[in-house]
Amino acid sequence: MANKNHSMKRQIFTLVVVIFLCISCKYQTKENSAALVNDTSKIYKGPIIDMHLHAFTDGHPLLGMTHPPTLRGETYKGVASGSEQKEKTLASLQKNNIVKAVVTSGHLWFDDAPETILIGDANKGVDELRKQHGEGNLQVIAEVAPFYNGILADDASILPYFELAEELNIPIGFHILPGGPNYGIHLMPEFLGGMRTYNANPLQLENVLVKYPNVKVYIMHGAWPYVEDLKALMYAHPNVYIDVSVVNWILPQEEFNAYLKPLINAGFGNRIMFGSDQMTWPQVIGVGIESINNVDFLTLEQKEAIFYDNAAQFLGLSDTEIKKHKSR
Ligand SMILES: [Zn+2]
Repeated sequence: MANKNHSMKRQIFTLVVVIFLCISCKYQTKENSAALVNDTSKIYKGPIIDMHLHAFTDGHPLLGMTHPPTLRGETYKGVASGSEQKEKTLASLQKNNIVKAVVTSGHLWFDDAPETILIGDANKGVDELRKQHGEGNLQVIAEVAPFYNGILADDASILPYFELAEELNIPIGFHILPGGPNYGIHLMPEFLGGMRTYNANPLQLENVLVKYPNVKVYIMHGAWPYVEDLKALMYAHPNVYIDVSVVNWILPQEEFNAYLKPLINAGFGNRIMFGSDQMTWPQVIGVGIESINNVDFLTLEQKEAIFYDNAAQFLGLSDTEIKKHKSR
């Protein structure tokens, strides 16, 4: 009897342990999805500005490519053509209430969304860009990416682009890591093989910022993972902004949070802007938005600053236009 009692107690104990484990396991799943912010009052639903998009023409090497597993383990099927990229990207802008978008080679799509698209361009000579601006077809000098060829921001061949941005008083977007896809150097050596990690530090912009103190620069892809150096640069130079494209869909959420936290703590929450850099994967626009909404320590106001206010200020949108966007 004593034995039977003992074994019953044992069974009950096991049952309790199992139930406890189940509950905590369930709680854990819940907590994980809560870390993915379930509280709808913390999800930003206002207008968004995307500081980093691309329009491709057929034949671009990324078209049709499936993105290899990102650091968060997702793969993305690429669009097959330039027209599919346009169609799916514009649909995503509409769906996500993206009211302004800086699109590199945006002239390709401008007529389809003239109120939304700000034309970015960089892959041509400075004189040509100046002319393009004069004709009203250039609002942002971007994406400036000598990084792909192992050339730094303060190289003599690149300085004229910053000089032009200062002269025209328009923003210039400068690409450094991470870009995408991860391991691109090895996956597409003929296209991405010239980049080197040792050329990715944002401090390469310092001489530029001293030479052109009034230039409005944004670091595309947010200078991850050089957060400490980025803080130093932002501390020293008030005109440095960042977009968080790619980092908001290629990094695990925890790493994205860990990257944003010190910038927010340091008081730079008013210079962080949303960007997606959809390239050939328009579906990442929604993923990038979700990632920012899932940053559990950001208030709704801080999210609004990242999604809209900082970029509106950086781009110099008029009060009328801002009011119009916010009343939608
Ligand atoms: Zn880029």
